[in-house]
Amino acid sequence: MDTREGMTTEHPENAAAFVANDARLKWHDESLWFVRQKRDRATSVIPEWETLRALGADIKAHTLSRLADYLEEFEQKATALGAHVHFARDAEEHNRIVHGLLARANVTRVVKSKSMLTEQCGLNHYLEAHGIEVIDTDLGERIVQLRHEPPSHIVMPAIHLKKEEIGDLFHDTMGAASGTSDPKVLTEVARGRLRGNLLAAQAGITGVNFAIAETGGVVVCTNEGNADLGTSIPPLHIACMGIEKVIPRAKDLGVFLRLLARSATGQPVTAYSSHFHGPRPGGELHIVIVDHGRSAILGREHYRRTLQCIRCGACMNTCPVYRRSGGHSYGVTVPGPLGAVLAPHIDPKKHRSLPFASTLCGSCSDVCPVQIDLHQQLLLWRGELGHAELIPLRKRAASQLAGWVLARTWAYEFLGRIARWILPKLPKALLRANDWGRQRELPPAPKESFRELYRRRRGQ
Ligand code: SF4
Repeated sequence: MDTREGMTTEHPENAAAFVANDARLKWHDESLWFVRQKRDRATSVIPEWETLRALGADIKAHTLSRLADYLEEFEQKATALGAHVHFARDAEEHNRIVHGLLARANVTRVVKSKSMLTEQCGLNHYLEAHGIEVIDTDLGERIVQLRHEPPSHIVMPAIHLKKEEIGDLFHDTMGAASGTSDPKVLTEVARGRLRGNLLAAQAGITGVNFAIAETGGVVVCTNEGNADLGTSIPPLHIACMGIEKVIPRAKDLGVFLRLLARSATGQPVTAYSSHFHGPRPGGELHIVIVDHGRSAILGREHYRRTLQCIRCGACMNTCPVYRRSGGHSYGVTVPGPLGAVLAPHIDPKKHRSLPFASTLCGSCSDVCPVQIDLHQQLLLWRGELGHAELIPLRKRAASQLAGWVLARTWAYEFLGRIARWILPKLPKALLRANDWGRQRELPPAPKESFRELYRRRRGQ
């Protein structure tokens, strides 16, 4: 599902580079935890929050069980409203369709609001290679675009950067005064530039958060209003969506809008929920619906639930591994627990390290607004990759040994006794020589195991 080239997804190696900068690591961890806490506060004031989650999950599961029917209904209704609907098998076909539409209208300048799908398809590079200038209008997306790097988070693409770094970037690229790091001033500088780009654009590309089968309309959620601006001025609007974005009825939208903003940023609602029902007067609306590996996931029962995702990013904000290793360490457009589940479907060998980038604490599943069992799926992937012999021999041997010991009480107790005897005698330097041990203190070894304690007390 990711066309990014030249990136390895050897997560441990990539994460090591991020972890090497202690200050950035701490600040990144704290920033995301701050968003997670905002989410907690926003959800705690909704007494029916868990009911809402269950309802969202049920609607999505139902939609997936009849996906072809709902897509067909959506196509009919959208076409009746005057939109043109296109289906693309994969990223390549998607890019070809979008380029064809732009070329037919002689478009050379296009503005784009945030869309993870077009990131996954590598649309910007494709269009630029065909002589079309693409300007991302979401501020975070624009920042990473100017840095020639991918987003590190699906909702906050530039969360890995400090305001001073953005100040330097805007000084170099947008003429901001040297040393400016006030976010308000920097936003004004970017706003001034983007207004010019929006006015000069000949076409607007957006993603789609929800496509309503009942009405044929699409809904795009932004906090900056850039989807509205990008599609109000130019006559051509191209909306790109994955097949899983469809929802059955207009009244389902309320459930997802309430879940999305609170889970993503802790806001009661996204600042702009833009509804597009057919093209604007005198304009053209094209909706490109992309599969790109999704129907293969739909066919895999245990993994199907990942298609319920509404791309809120909450699983990333809460994940202790994501917070401490940064989004780029995953080497895919969608990082974090969600990306670690999605990426191996495309190339299990290339992305084999990702399901191990998790403590399996289950926090991702706990916060997911549509109840996706992410940590269970990560565990499933580990088993699959192990059976396919795609994980390193050392890790496989260690897992097999652990399995053997844990299945035999006598071996577990015997090794436990040895460990309790030997651990206090080991020099501390030995622990420090190990990556894992460098940041940890071992607690003093207990004199007896829990089983021994239990037996002794029961015997009393
Ligand atoms: S998997 Fe759940 S928590 Fe993660 S982005 Fe999707 S909806 Fe949000």
